[in-house]
Amino acid sequence: MHIIEPHQIQQRKLRPDSANKLPLRIAFLVTLVIGAGGLLMWRLEHRSLPLPAIAQQEEAEEAQTGDAGPPKPLRLKQFSNEQFRDLYNSFAYPNTAEIAAPPVITGNSKADKRIRDLAFGRGYKLRSAPVSPLVTTEDGFALQQKAVKPWHDLKRAAAREGIPLGLASAYRSIEEQRLIFLQGLKATGVTPEEVAAGLVDDKVIRVLATTSIPGASRHHTGFAVDLKCSDEDHTLFVHSKCFAWLSNNNYEKAKRYGWIPSYPPGTPNQGPEPEAWEYVWVGIDTLSE
Ligand SMILES: [Zn+2]
Repeated sequence: MHIIEPHQIQQRKLRPDSANKLPLRIAFLVTLVIGAGGLLMWRLEHRSLPLPAIAQQEEAEEAQTGDAGPPKPLRLKQFSNEQFRDLYNSFAYPNTAEIAAPPVITGNSKADKRIRDLAFGRGYKLRSAPVSPLVTTEDGFALQQKAVKPWHDLKRAAAREGIPLGLASAYRSIEEQRLIFLQGLKATGVTPEEVAAGLVDDKVIRVLATTSIPGASRHHTGFAVDLKCSDEDHTLFVHSKCFAWLSNNNYEKAKRYGWIPSYPPGTPNQGPEPEAWEYVWVGIDTLSE
């Protein structure tokens, strides 16, 4: 029989006790750290959660850049439709270089010359094209970097007022424009030989009324956009509430975000017939006093 002396009992009681206390202390500390960490996370999350605060911050940032945001004391210049056209032609589009040589159209050089003469006679001009890569908008269209935020800002400003502004087209390459033009020409049933002989000028002019020759489209710059209202065909844009919103008071809303009408109404010699849906970015600095 093993006799336990009193001093041994003391020791035996002490040992398990002190051995049990260590894990307890560790557990307590871990709980404390986790608790404090959780509290910190909660505070951080709740500090960044309130959306009005974010919106205010964004608006403050936008106000600083001067590119966008809610109405602010901006003195916008007024333009006649001819002045819009002339501004487009005189503005130096950044990140572009002039298209020096007229691109091939049908491949029949005589027909191509005839088409170009008719196009330039209507006011079409060779435009410029990007010299470095473009950026994709949140709508999935290629656009010049400088025009992307102004487009997103314009779209959001419209949405805030219940205007469903969307993109139908943005950058277009010379080759894409060539195919679009050829499609239009083909639909008239003419042959390049007839075009070259000058027998079908009226039909070529009818195509030019709506479609640019390759090299002369403003979409080549990467700064032009075709807008649509909701999912309506963009050619109906002139009748939409989006157009009414954009064009009101000398295109105030468009100008506020750096955009001007590309082919305003009642303006002769600008290439195609007026296109209410097309806008070009020239920047807020150009448009404000
Ligand atoms: Zn267009």
